[in-house]
Amino acid sequence: MTEKTAEVPGELVLQGIGVSPGVAVGEVVVFAAEGIPIPERPITEKDVPVEITRFEEALIKTRHQISEIQRRVSAVLGEEHASIFDAHLLVVDDRYFVEEVIRELHEKHRNIEAVVGSVAERYMEMLGKVEDDYLRERTADVRDVTRRVIENLSGETMDRMGQLERPCIAVARDFSPSDTAGMNRNIVHAFVTDIGSVTSHTAIMARALEVPAVVGLHDISTRVTSGETVLVDGTKGMVIIRPTSERLLAYAKKAEDQKMILCELETLKDKPSETKDGYCMPIAANIELPMEVEGIGRFGARGVGLFRTEFLFLDKDHLPDEEEQTTVYSDVADQCAPDPVVIRTLDLGGDKFASTLKTASELNPFLGQRAIRFCLAHPDFFKVQLRALLRAAAGRSISIMYPMISCVTEVIQANGILEECRKELKKEGAPYAEKLRVGAMIEVPSAALTVDLIAPHVDFFSIGTNDLIQYTLAVDRVNENVAYLYKPTHVSILKLIQQVVQTAHDSRIPVAVCGQMAASPEMVPLLIGLGVDELSISPPSVPMIKDVVRSLRYTECARLAEGALQARTPDDILEECCALLAKRAPEILELIG
Ligand code: PEP
Ligand code: MG
Repeated sequence: MTEKTAEVPGELVLQGIGVSPGVAVGEVVVFAAEGIPIPERPITEKDVPVEITRFEEALIKTRHQISEIQRRVSAVLGEEHASIFDAHLLVVDDRYFVEEVIRELHEKHRNIEAVVGSVAERYMEMLGKVEDDYLRERTADVRDVTRRVIENLSGETMDRMGQLERPCIAVARDFSPSDTAGMNRNIVHAFVTDIGSVTSHTAIMARALEVPAVVGLHDISTRVTSGETVLVDGTKGMVIIRPTSERLLAYAKKAEDQKMILCELETLKDKPSETKDGYCMPIAANIELPMEVEGIGRFGARGVGLFRTEFLFLDKDHLPDEEEQTTVYSDVADQCAPDPVVIRTLDLGGDKFASTLKTASELNPFLGQRAIRFCLAHPDFFKVQLRALLRAAAGRSISIMYPMISCVTEVIQANGILEECRKELKKEGAPYAEKLRVGAMIEVPSAALTVDLIAPHVDFFSIGTNDLIQYTLAVDRVNENVAYLYKPTHVSILKLIQQVVQTAHDSRIPVAVCGQMAASPEMVPLLIGLGVDELSISPPSVPMIKDVVRSLRYTECARLAEGALQARTPDDILEECCALLAKRAPEILELIG
């Protein structure tokens, strides 16, 4: 982050990474890094029995909650996973812990929440120091259980966002997937974080919610205090603390100009997405939440090219079962009909973890048991989703695709499990899709380079550039410290896309691009020139990208791509792309600043 000297005294201008466009002004609410704050107050000896009763009740409630989670996990994932919660139950039942809390309650005369918090802290400190790996790992269990007990004591819930009552700008070190999934955009007008990048889950959700957002500001959560006024410019990635009235006036004027451009773009809604010389580039929508489907027609997208289903799992206190999933997928497809819907199988891991799924902690989660790897390692869990997809696809235009494929074997294995599900449903006499289009996401260089081997097993490819860039350039996509190296125009990326498109087309298989690159106006001419067949992007970006497509000629895009494949640096290529955009669609440059 570069900090500019304020042009006008009194305000502070911070530069981060703009991940969701738009401007918002409002009062800040700063969220603490770890869950809910622990209330603290003195008590008298007379209050002690009341506090003990509250403690006992909270322990009983916590025990029930954990047993319920365990039951659901066991039903969906099997005993082996559910047994991880045994460790949580052991913490609740630990006599030493309970006695220590009661002893300290008498001694320190502070409310029970504060005492539980301090005893747990000591416990965790002790466990953190022991040599034994197993015992050390129990620190996380103690933390989880303590959080739950304190929430039950103070009547708070894990739903931090649900507690907000007045419109605000939410600021935090980062937001968890359940925070973002629980955000109400009428209350949270923008959000701002210390960490993250353009493709982190927080950014993806901000775009889904159409809420301006800036991430990667390093320490903003410690530099502003709740109640201060902040201006968030999600388009430019700027956050202005205590903006002056001149600044606010200038923004209001700019907002008016942009509104006019957006109104113009709205008229493109029903126009075809094709270049001036007739190259068709259909634009589908990326969605994370079923509720987004309602908006996709409004923005002029045709169907859904990527439904990130893991978000269904992230804000829940239970794992959605087969019935629940079948209903969600069917509803989304019904709302889109007759346009098709591509549903991605679970992409858990990386920076997306379900609180109800206790996955092993890994040193490099993006290189670990993520996405298809997790699903193949837990076939019973995977089958719940595949069965739901097969059932929803009966009589509906639904395709599925597997994320993070790194070799053909994974596709063959996943197809094998899909076939098993088909057989089961047939035996049960349940309606299901006999034929289901299956795609592979190309997001790992090893898959991009072996598209010829994967092609016989799939019906389409979709390039996930967010991951393809991170895995090709060895740049963690959520690490703001290396964000400067995250270059979609690196020639290696363009070569991989070209190779995928050519090889897939040799097998008559279409290729879509569903990463953020497809939603960047200056990248669109390149993707057209490289021969991509479809783009899938967040719905609010559709009018802008359609405008770009319609302002171009395929021939000039092909020339641009040809030149780019020979170029030396990512910046040279980007410059050429921007120059073409400035010539053909200057209104878009005005919009994106
Ligand atoms: C991608 O990697 O480009 C992609 C679309 O998937 P996600 O961002 O969900 O990893
Ligand atoms: Mg991906």
